[in-house]
Amino acid sequence: MIEIDDLSGWRDAASAARASGRRVGLVPTMGALHAGHRRLIETATAAGDWVLVTIFVNPRQFDDPEDLARYPRDLGADRLTASAAGADCLVIPRTRDMWPDGPENTSTTVHVAGLGDLYEGAQRPGHFDGVASVVAKLFAITGPCRAYFGEKDYQQMTLVRAMARDLGFDVDVVSVPIVRDEDGLALSSRNVLLSAEGRRRALHLPAALADVAAEPACASQMRERVRSRLADAGLEVAYVEVVDPVTLTALDDHAEGEARVLGAIVVDGVRLIDNVAVHVKGGA
Ligand code: AMP
Repeated sequence: MIEIDDLSGWRDAASAARASGRRVGLVPTMGALHAGHRRLIETATAAGDWVLVTIFVNPRQFDDPEDLARYPRDLGADRLTASAAGADCLVIPRTRDMWPDGPENTSTTVHVAGLGDLYEGAQRPGHFDGVASVVAKLFAITGPCRAYFGEKDYQQMTLVRAMARDLGFDVDVVSVPIVRDEDGLALSSRNVLLSAEGRRRALHLPAALADVAAEPACASQMRERVRSRLADAGLEVAYVEVVDPVTLTALDDHAEGEARVLGAIVVDGVRLIDNVAVHVKGGA
């Protein structure tokens, strides 16, 4: 695995891989790599791609400075994980190269209206502008590729797909299913910030989602079942919505067919998100 920290080296390495007949598989991350990230890298490797992993804790997508300050970082372990999962190239760009005028003073922003304003976007002002802007830059530097995104961040994956299409990037966005711990909690770099008790309480989220996925119902029934379980457990619910899997618009009880339940809670001051595929039955 080669390691690169400058933009021209990164651009050249991806071009050279394509010139040698390989397809580039891009895996964007913020580091503190766990088995969820590993699955993205392994999926790209299994598809035969020349796999380029990026690690960049993008300050522009943090709406809370404290969240940025305490975001876990472990580059030593990340190098080992990326290499063991089969990555060909690890790119750790510098903030001054990604945002030459500084994260606060960069004048160019990519805003995905609609998709970026819902759910996570509504509660974390500027978050998806930061995400769309950094991913657009990753795509611009990497060039034509397949880009692997986890369904764990379902709204982000949907938004990136829309952005790539709207701006004409030659990038095929591939979604990878959620990897969970044995107890059901979706793996997240933020899980290390939970207390043992917080983690135990957080398990109500994946459990409630699994329950509604197992039992077809109309959208409002599913939403209320998840909400009431979380509320009964004394959890702070950021949102729970049953949405169209492509447009992410909230569904009413006329909806019938494939849907996604998106949920977010705050435990020990840590924001946790999760989601599940469901089948809604038209009720009203
Ligand atoms: P992050 O480092 O949190 O920005 O995540 C980088 C990529 O890994 C994103 O595409 C995430 O959706 C994906 N990812 C994070 N956690 C998981 C997980 N538990 N299962 C699958 N993909 C994940």
